[in-house]
Amino acid sequence: GTWKMLPLKHIFVSLGANTSGCWGAPYDTLCRSLHELERCEINIVCCSSVYRTNPHTAAGMMPPFYNAVIGIRSHYAIGSLLRVLKYIERRAGRRLSARWSRRPLDLDIVDFGGRVLNWPSLTRRGGPIVLPHPLMQDRGFVLVPLAEIAPQWRPPVLGVSAESLLKATPGLRRGVVLANKLPQDWLRTAEGC
Ligand code: ADP
Ligand code: MG
Repeated sequence: GTWKMLPLKHIFVSLGANTSGCWGAPYDTLCRSLHELERCEINIVCCSSVYRTNPHTAAGMMPPFYNAVIGIRSHYAIGSLLRVLKYIERRAGRRLSARWSRRPLDLDIVDFGGRVLNWPSLTRRGGPIVLPHPLMQDRGFVLVPLAEIAPQWRPPVLGVSAESLLKATPGLRRGVVLANKLPQDWLRTAEGC
């Protein structure tokens, strides 16, 4: 699998979008964000397909989310990486809004080289960084793309692969459907890591 080619320090970032922003529709925003990450010296080592999560509640007006997970390589420390992600979110048109509401771009650190920080508190705006991401085990839209690019990789603390987590709770796949591929032209091989 692809994961064997990843650098020793696995860093996974989840991408999500469910409304148009400065860079266009959600899928276009995800594509553009990959180029922006590269421009900020964040090398993309592997990238999942894009999945669309159909809202399955009557909650109503919420448009579907487009999600992907990438494996990256960078020289940033955790705090700096998060600042870069927040900077890219802002440039995509993200403004402060209620949690889990419409947003043109959401970039979360799923795992940073196995580091455990403040886990399992829930992330809060302005709060401390939490690693691994405290909700990843409940989110099909993170686990499904993660299982695609890194089926064997085990997140810290949880100790089981995304694939196993999905097998244990098949309902997590509900509503998560393959939407599209991302262009792969900027993909770096992790050779030499
Ligand atoms: P959410 O991603 O939960 O929908 P936000 O993107 O607004 O909501 O993030 C809320 C806060 O979570 C931000 O202030 C961010 O600094 C913080 N945070 C803590 N840990 C992480 C992490 N691992 N990845 C991304 N953001 C995090
Ligand atoms: Mg976020």
